[in-house]
Amino acid sequence: MTAIKLFKNAHVLAPEDLGVLDVLVAANKIVAIGKDLNPGDGNLPIEMIDANGFYLTPGFVDSLVHFIGGGGEGGFATRTPEMQLTDATLGGVTTAIGVLGTDATTRTLTNLLAKAHALEIEGISTYCHTGSYQVPCRTIMGSVTDDLILIDKFIGVGEIAISDHRSSQPSLTELRKVAAEARVGGMLAGKGGIVSVHVGAGASLLDPLHRAIAGTELQLSQFYPTHINRNQAIFAAGLRFAQAGGVIDFTTSTTAYDLKHGEVAAAQALALALTQGIPVSQLTLSSDGNASLPIFSSSGQLLGLEVGKVSSLYASARSAVMDYQVTLSNAIAAITSSPADVLGLHHKGRIAVDKDADIVLIDKKTLHIDSVFAKGKTMVKAAKAVVVGTFETKLN
Ligand code: ZN
Repeated sequence: MTAIKLFKNAHVLAPEDLGVLDVLVAANKIVAIGKDLNPGDGNLPIEMIDANGFYLTPGFVDSLVHFIGGGGEGGFATRTPEMQLTDATLGGVTTAIGVLGTDATTRTLTNLLAKAHALEIEGISTYCHTGSYQVPCRTIMGSVTDDLILIDKFIGVGEIAISDHRSSQPSLTELRKVAAEARVGGMLAGKGGIVSVHVGAGASLLDPLHRAIAGTELQLSQFYPTHINRNQAIFAAGLRFAQAGGVIDFTTSTTAYDLKHGEVAAAQALALALTQGIPVSQLTLSSDGNASLPIFSSSGQLLGLEVGKVSSLYASARSAVMDYQVTLSNAIAAITSSPADVLGLHHKGRIAVDKDADIVLIDKKTLHIDSVFAKGKTMVKAAKAVVVGTFETKLN
């Protein structure tokens, strides 16, 4: 496996459709894109990859993954397991953003940070949000601002829970303070500094966010609410939020129970939002991978539990194309350039010179993932993992 790779005759979705081109990668960067790129006199150690018959897209950016596990809402035995490297790579995910969740007592930010470093060593790119569902926020350095400035991998805060029985029921003042701290930390560190917001099934929907910015200098775009496809009411509130300038995120992990009880499938939500005129730059999908997917009764009693999958991210993007007539370019944008932009990851999410060489090859006939490259390194080939995590024994 050489450090220089030349993808020949790929149909490039950057995510915008650039047509059939060659893409040259050296070490971990994309260094040239063009027609008929010439490998020279044959002395250079270049790995030639025949990409004829494939779409070449940016590696997917999953903006919400519980990569040290989450949950525990039904007691200790319901804490979900950690994500493994190939859970991400086989699903085309080359950048994952890790978060805590409901439990910030037995799950810690230091553990999250260690796992982020481990996954980075294993080959993908990782970032984290400080805090958890709770306000005031748990932090490592003493404040959200300090965590964003002083810890490289921390790029935002959250997911802060609102409109949910598991939320710490933050006041408007508390929400404003979290947003202000994230904003200043992000500015000083040159990071996105957004507040990822977990939106539950509560009746207040996204109102706390609209009320938090009213009368302040904060912008709606400071908040990045997720689970906006949880039910019809939240979806409608999400469209209003996007029409007012915010970015909204749809969760791709789901259960048959949720879909039967009012959840809008993420693929369908993406299609509906696009037909409502929301630009794809304000629409993202995330997997909520390794989250617990609790099934609650109407009185809040836990009835059962499933585990979110990172692979649902591309499965939903593909379904948006196959089942809901979304263009492949838009479906790919919702899992690449859109999340990269909202998170401030300017070296991610696009096929362009100087961007990281995170690349997915997708079979043009079936739209299944064939190969995945993270920072120039082959992770998946012919839909099989060629690199596995430290403690993964099986090759698939
Ligand atoms: Zn959540």
